[in-house]
Amino acid sequence: MKGISVLGSTGSIGTQALEVCENLGFDVLALTTNVRIDILEKQIEKFKPKIVAVMNDEKASELKKNLKNKNVEVLAGIDGINSAASIDGADTILNALVGNIGLEPTLKAIRNGKNVALANKETLVTAGELVIKEAKKFNIKIYPIDSEHSAIFQCLQGNENNKIAKIHLTASGGPFKDYTSFDGITVKDALNHPNWTMGRKITIDSATMMNKGLEVIEAKWLFDVDVGKINVVIHPQSIIHSMVEFEDGAVIAQLGEPDMRVPIQYALTYPERVKNNFPKVNFFDCGNLTFQKPDLKLFRCLALAFDAIKTGGTLPTVLNGANEIAVGAFLDGKIQFSDIPELIEKAMYAYNIKYNYSFADVFEADLWARNYTKTLILR
Ligand code: MG
Repeated sequence: MKGISVLGSTGSIGTQALEVCENLGFDVLALTTNVRIDILEKQIEKFKPKIVAVMNDEKASELKKNLKNKNVEVLAGIDGINSAASIDGADTILNALVGNIGLEPTLKAIRNGKNVALANKETLVTAGELVIKEAKKFNIKIYPIDSEHSAIFQCLQGNENNKIAKIHLTASGGPFKDYTSFDGITVKDALNHPNWTMGRKITIDSATMMNKGLEVIEAKWLFDVDVGKINVVIHPQSIIHSMVEFEDGAVIAQLGEPDMRVPIQYALTYPERVKNNFPKVNFFDCGNLTFQKPDLKLFRCLALAFDAIKTGGTLPTVLNGANEIAVGAFLDGKIQFSDIPELIEKAMYAYNIKYNYSFADVFEADLWARNYTKTLILR
C-alpha cells in the first residue's frame, strides 16, 4: 500500500485527491488545512491520518479541543505543514496548497526524499528553476497535477528523447473569452467558470487568464522548453487538455472529460493507468472542438506573464505575488476586475529584478511584491 500525505486536503483539489486515494486504497498519513477544520475533522474520521496540520493557530487549538479521535497528532502553522510534507512512511506528497505558501513544503518533501504530486502552481512559478534543480539533486520526481501539464507529461511518454518543437497549451478562455471590454465585471460574473469547478483564487485567475500565464511558466520549467515554443490556444470545450508538437510536425494530444480526478490519479499511479468510474468522453455528444487565439491586449495578465518569464530572474515571483494580492482585493470588493493587471504591471515596473538568485531572494521578492501591491491598493 502506498503511503501519501495530502497538503491542502480541504480544498477543491485536496478533496478530489482524497476521493482518488480512497479508490486506490492508499494509506493517507497526513492531512493539512488552512482554516477548514470542520471538513478536516470529517476527513480525520474517514482516513485516520497520523498527523494533521492547521495553518491557522487558533483553528488548530480549536480542532485539538473538538477532536474525538485522540490518536491523531494536531500540529499548527507552517512548521506543521512542513512536518506533513516530510512524514515517515509517505512515498508521495500531494501538494494542493494555494499560493506561494506551497513552496517551502515542496522543498521539505524533496529534501526528505519524497516524490511530489504537484498541484501548487506557485512552487514552479516563483522558484521553478531552483526547485527543478533541487529535485534533480535529490533524485525526486515531480508529477504534475494541473490538467494541462499532466496532458503534456502524458504526450511525452515514449518520446523522452525527442525534442519538443512546440507545446500547445490549451485554455478554456474562462467566462470572458468573447468579451471586448472588462468594465463592470462583478465577483459573481468572474466566479462563474463555464467548464471547471475550482477554488475561488484559481477561478478568478482563469477569468483574467493569469492562470494560463502561470501555466506557461510552469510548463517552461517542468518540460525545460523555451517560452517561445509555448503556444496558448483557447479551446472552449476543455476536451483537449494540451498538445505536444514534435520536430516532424506530428502533434500528440491528450483528451478527456474536464475532471481533475484523472490527472490526480495519473500522478499517483504513474506509470500505470488504473480503471475508475469517472465520466468518459462521448465524441457524439461533445460537439465541435474549436480553437481561437487569445487577445493579449484584452487579457493583459497573460501578456504580463509572458513578459515576466521572458525577462526572467525574480520577476515571475513578483508577478505572482502581486497577482495573489490583487485577486484577494478583487474578491473582497476593494478593486475592479480591470484593476488586477494594472496593479501587477505597476509592481513589475517598480521592482528591481535579481538575475542571480537563491531561495532567500525568491521569498524576499514575493514579500516585496505583496507589500508593494497592498500599498497601491490603499492609495
Ligand atoms: Mg490548469
